[in-house]
Amino acid sequence: MALIVQKYGGSSVSDAEAMKRVAQRIVDTRNAGHNVVVVVSAMGDSTDELLDLAAELSDNPPQREMDMLLSAGERVSMSLLAMSINSLGVPAVSYTGAQAGIMTDAHFGKAQITGMVPERVARSIRDGQVAIVAGFQGVSSDDDVTTLGRGGSDTTAVALAAALHADVCEIYTDVDGLFTADPRIVPNARRIHRISQEETLELAAHGAKILHLRAVEFARRYKVPLHVRSSFSTKDGTWISNTPANPDLKGLVPDIALAIPQEEKVEAPIISGIAHDRSQDKITVVGIADTPGMAARLFEIITAAGSNIDMIVQNVPTSGTGRANITFTLPSSDADKTMAAIESAKDELGYTKLQYNSDIGILSLIGAGMRTNPGVSAKLFGALSEAGVNIDLISTSEIRISVVTKLEDLDRAVRSVHSAFGLDATESEAVIYGGTGR
Ligand code: ASP
Ligand code: MG
Repeated sequence: MALIVQKYGGSSVSDAEAMKRVAQRIVDTRNAGHNVVVVVSAMGDSTDELLDLAAELSDNPPQREMDMLLSAGERVSMSLLAMSINSLGVPAVSYTGAQAGIMTDAHFGKAQITGMVPERVARSIRDGQVAIVAGFQGVSSDDDVTTLGRGGSDTTAVALAAALHADVCEIYTDVDGLFTADPRIVPNARRIHRISQEETLELAAHGAKILHLRAVEFARRYKVPLHVRSSFSTKDGTWISNTPANPDLKGLVPDIALAIPQEEKVEAPIISGIAHDRSQDKITVVGIADTPGMAARLFEIITAAGSNIDMIVQNVPTSGTGRANITFTLPSSDADKTMAAIESAKDELGYTKLQYNSDIGILSLIGAGMRTNPGVSAKLFGALSEAGVNIDLISTSEIRISVVTKLEDLDRAVRSVHSAFGLDATESEAVIYGGTGR
């Protein structure tokens, strides 16, 4: 018998029919002899609808009230799902984040989990009930309802799986797992069978929208095996794990998940997948003094503005002017405030010009095999040049190479790199059942 945490995204519970299908699936898992704890997102697009409603009433609603409002979406789905499971003859009980003991700090809208005390959930397991926990919410030490940020139900699920020492955390969505590239851009992208947590972190951090980044961080820290799969099919999805899963899961999941055979390690693909990101902009500070302390000062100012920087490149002109250019990328949503902050520090920083470009795309090639295989960058750059794509910036980590391109070139770049690395499937495998990708 295993303990399985199952998380269902909004597209899996979008209406009563969908809810019934999920309820049946939960009951089937129970009947196979396992304990199930469920985390559920708000139905369909209901979180967006709540946001729209709030926007009609206020330009700047109190953040506390926003969290109170948004947490209601998951209350609707959790209670309905509990009713549906009960009607199939299996006892099920729903819990809010607070009732499930999900403690957070008080940063409304982006609260961090500070502790997990899922006593009532554990009691439900002991009493043979299916516990249904509202995703994406918790409670602060002041007893205020908090939310974890959009897409945060994944994080709730992984945190619960960690706290309950679950054998596996299944993330149900409307696609069959993680793909070697976004199937909307590369129709013959392949499903990834198994991938390490490090690679998944890089994918999620560089634009792959399938998993909440913090969920993957949690999974890595607490060694929770994740299985991302579709609630619309019974196909095996993608296993995200660095260790073999519990052998008790045999029969529930195909054998591929149960062990990493030696051969598979040897044959592990050099490249696991390609992520792309259209949500970043680029800023260049031209002619900043090339003296110690200037970069530090610039990035202090940017940090104080509350911006998250991704790539940073500095180039020093050869002419001996004593000046350099510093370029960085950042989320579009941080661009205005960052530009304003740098502009207002113009005298102190003494740069000559500030440039801003929002028409950029970032392609990231990710694979643990890069560590041991030379020639990956040459092949990447070769594929881009063949596709006629100009490379703007380049940044690398141990298992990732990212390049900035023109926005209009991005899709072409992704397709060309995908085939250059032999990732294309012979026939198309990707099915998007729901349409939201969650
Ligand atoms: N309902 C929330 C959202 O739409 C949380 C989630 O779905 O994970 O962002
Ligand atoms: Mg959602």
